[in-house]
Amino acid sequence: MKSTFDSGPQSTSTSDAESPASALSPGERIKTLVILGASGDLTGRLLLPGVAKLIASGRAPGLKLVGAGNDAWPAQQWQDRLTESFADALAPGGVSTADGIAELKSVQADSTYHQLDVTAKGVLGTFLKTVEGPVALYFALPPAVSQKACEILSTEDLPAGTRLVMEKPFGSSTESAQDLNATLAKLVPEDHIHRVDHFLGKSTVLNIMGLRFANRLLEHSWNRDHIEKVEIVFDEPLTLENRARYYDHAGAGRDMIQSHLLQIMAIMAMEPPATLDEEDVRSNIAAVLRASNVGEGADLERYTRRARYTAGTIADRAVPNYLDEEGVDPANGTETLAEVEVFVSNWRWAGVPFILRSGKALGRARKEAVVTFKPVPHLPLGFKGTDSPTRLHIGFGPETLTLDLDVNGPGDLFTLDRVQLQASLASDPLLPYGEVLDGVLSADPLLSVRGDTAEECWRIVEPTFAAWKANEVPLEDYPAGSLGPDNWSTSNDES
Ligand code: NDP
Repeated sequence: MKSTFDSGPQSTSTSDAESPASALSPGERIKTLVILGASGDLTGRLLLPGVAKLIASGRAPGLKLVGAGNDAWPAQQWQDRLTESFADALAPGGVSTADGIAELKSVQADSTYHQLDVTAKGVLGTFLKTVEGPVALYFALPPAVSQKACEILSTEDLPAGTRLVMEKPFGSSTESAQDLNATLAKLVPEDHIHRVDHFLGKSTVLNIMGLRFANRLLEHSWNRDHIEKVEIVFDEPLTLENRARYYDHAGAGRDMIQSHLLQIMAIMAMEPPATLDEEDVRSNIAAVLRASNVGEGADLERYTRRARYTAGTIADRAVPNYLDEEGVDPANGTETLAEVEVFVSNWRWAGVPFILRSGKALGRARKEAVVTFKPVPHLPLGFKGTDSPTRLHIGFGPETLTLDLDVNGPGDLFTLDRVQLQASLASDPLLPYGEVLDGVLSADPLLSVRGDTAEECWRIVEPTFAAWKANEVPLEDYPAGSLGPDNWSTSNDES
């Protein structure tokens, strides 16, 4: 099937939907957030606490909150869920202000829950006409249910100005992402669609862009002439945590690399945008992904690695073998640790590997991008010591910047010592979903994944997933609590 995005410039022009008669006037915000899947796990654990922080910080004035689910819930059950999810934000301190807390209490008191089967014709469309707009419609639903709901909505009129918020996974292949994009394009213009990637919090994105594009020294050497490799690592000690129903089909590759890590890579590798306008930024992100592939040829055994954890110990907790976790089907061959080398075929990056790695049940949490610079062309004879490469670490939690350099330390003048220059970077005190929702409610798609980009991310990893499925790349193992197999490309050495 042909991509929805093949025909020229992006944004509103790619949509079959009518143009946004409803565009918000400058500074105007979304009036009502409707959460579909209000009884689900994502809503309770991540969305509602994020909304609460945003409101309690005073950054979502006048918002109305509506929940909808398949089951009938008495009003009190919804109120109880809000009370539980809002507890942190209602406590004074942190980002919460007295006015914000008062506002949050008022939002909760006015909030309603509705039983809606969104896969039944006419139900959601009719309901939306009763809600004060403009509305952001958050699809916190199983992917197949979201797809069906959107297909039904595409035959009805959506209220003017509606924004659609789509969760990951966005499709399960290039083709299914194209199909979903084609359906969404019948509903609203592209810049009214927020495909959520909560790793693209404002602070992470702006920290990388500020570092790269506001420092002549860095941007000057940000290319194949000076950079040996870039590693983007999200290792976590968390294990399956009862999420087999989702994770045993996704694995580390689909869960992390296909979405979050490719997005971070694109921001690390993109060309400088002229402005921070969504169109400039997202077009440059799309361009760099279009130039990206896993490996430099068909040899995916050389450029990709996968492994699965066996029994072990993490912080004194005994962790069972992944295959013994409840709900896991060995026939799925799921990897819990994955690493791929992506190459960007353009003048800036030709030949430089971007090594993306993520896994569970590891002995150390590690969330960072590491840029390793090439060695100096000649180290004057006579220097002794480390002779290690210059490395720049961008930490994603906490948000930090560390530059590893070799210098003449305090001892022998001829001996080089390793030093680290460290700084803390800005981090938004909102939870990741608070940052995402701030973008949605201010109708700014800057931090949302554009449709063509979602398709590109599947195209980049599909040959890898096919090779893994065909067992062309061995599935290794590692004990839970270890640092993973020790022969992989990503350095386990953090310095
Ligand atoms: P859950 O299974 O916990 O919740 C699904 C929700 O969808 C329930 O509220 C359910 O309502 C509702 N629902 C199902 N069918 C219908 C229908 N026909 N009409 C109306 N509502 C319906 O899923 P999650 O919360 O875990 O996930 C939701 C989405 O978020 C998925 O796309 C997932 O991939 C994504 N996601 C989830 C994360 C997580 O940590 N949970 C993390 C990142 C993304 P009812 O209970 O009444 O049947």
